[in-house]
Amino acid sequence: MGESKYTPTIGLEVHAQLKTATKMFCNSKNDPDESEPNVNICPVCMGHPGTLPVINKAAVHHVLRVGTAVGGQLADFTEFDRKNYFYPDIPKGYQISQYKYPLVTGGSVNGVELTRIHLEEDTALSKHEADYSLVDFNRAGIPLMELVTEPVMHSAEEVVAFARELRLLLRALGASDANMEKGELRLEANISVSGTDEFGTKVEVKNLNSFKAVERATQFEIKRQIEALENGEELVQETRGWDENRQKTFSQRSKESAHDYRYFPDPDLPKLVISEIPEFSRDALDESLPELPREKRKRYQDELGLKKEDADMFVSDAVLGVFFDNVARICGSDTKKIQLAANYIAADLAGLYKASDVSELEISSDDFVKLIDMLMQGDISSRGAKDTLKIMFEEGGDPKHIAQEKGLLQKSDEEELKKIVEDIIAEHTAVAEEYKAGKEASLKFLIGQGMKATQGSANPQLLKQLLENALSK
Ligand code: ADP
Ligand code: MG
Repeated sequence: MGESKYTPTIGLEVHAQLKTATKMFCNSKNDPDESEPNVNICPVCMGHPGTLPVINKAAVHHVLRVGTAVGGQLADFTEFDRKNYFYPDIPKGYQISQYKYPLVTGGSVNGVELTRIHLEEDTALSKHEADYSLVDFNRAGIPLMELVTEPVMHSAEEVVAFARELRLLLRALGASDANMEKGELRLEANISVSGTDEFGTKVEVKNLNSFKAVERATQFEIKRQIEALENGEELVQETRGWDENRQKTFSQRSKESAHDYRYFPDPDLPKLVISEIPEFSRDALDESLPELPREKRKRYQDELGLKKEDADMFVSDAVLGVFFDNVARICGSDTKKIQLAANYIAADLAGLYKASDVSELEISSDDFVKLIDMLMQGDISSRGAKDTLKIMFEEGGDPKHIAQEKGLLQKSDEEELKKIVEDIIAEHTAVAEEYKAGKEASLKFLIGQGMKATQGSANPQLLKQLLENALSK
């Protein structure tokens, strides 16, 4: 099959539930963890006649901070619109959203250009059983950020990389917990395939509840569309669902277009002039941003000299990242030490952590830095450090005590090692003569004998040096 003839194009629509105390337009609690249905509700989010919505400032703030972080253009004038449709999950008969004046336009994440970011309210959650459906209105009215990308991605890998970076960003900003399994982050992928310069017919894929599902569904859909085109079939613009069990997309409905929703400005809500609100000034927003994932990654690589994989790990894993930050702070300006520490965290500590089921690290960053000091001073071998680290990971504790107790300290006592060196030379006179005559490899043998004599506890550098000194006489 001539796949290379076809270019896949993908654009995403992303919804993220925002972290606020209350809902988008009322005082009902915004608690995604509430398990009892229909308790976080009130006449406003239930759409009772005569009630009036009030804009949640914290939700607007979140979206403006996201917009600032992605380098988008913040709206000055903005308003909310009613998106009309009939469904049991939408008690008012319309959803309050933004149509003509989104809070943010443009910007980019991971090199992917964004079209817009706007604010709306979540719908209720429907549960469909065999012969009935249940509706939980706890979710109705939770602030929901919608982010739309330009159709500029071309592979499933690119889509997943974008989504991961966006999730990191939302978490770093505290805008959303963005757990896909909990529906706090929801992705819809628009996918088309074309063999010409023009875009092909796009299909929208829903029900993507994990990064794996996003990846598989995108791959599946690209393949399905290419096969259809190869067979001379015409693709239809439609919404398809992802069937996790069968690992396939399936047709759900033909796509409605914007005019079906009869959007119009909500007359119950005031227009917003962003520049009139002090906390929403560009300066105030800039100042409210923490170090962003991409900035952190750059700092780790450019300033601290970490390897890209290690930097990525510390940016994406909160536990290891915080641990590394603490360690780096203790190490101060000693980048050599920081790099050595980073190696041990990314390889050894991360290995222990990922193989365990703990969610917090027992080991203190101070003790960890002590271990790195011991390594740098030659008090412990890398083998000994790994063994000590394992114990520290499991039980915590001072590495000096642990290494001493387990006999893992290296002998760096010069006088003691000098005696051992003399004994070895006396015992292996022939080899010693060979070395003196120029056979470099003989020194390795003698070092090996020294390690053996000290049961591996000698500092190999020191041992080598003492042997060289003794043999040059
Ligand atoms: P609609 O009017 O159908 O909602 P939009 O133009 O608003 O379409 O785009 C919705 C999403 O679909 C955006 O994420 C956009 O990037 C994506 N998209 C648009 N055209 C295509 C295409 N031909 N192939 C893939 N994705 C597309
Ligand atoms: Mg659209």
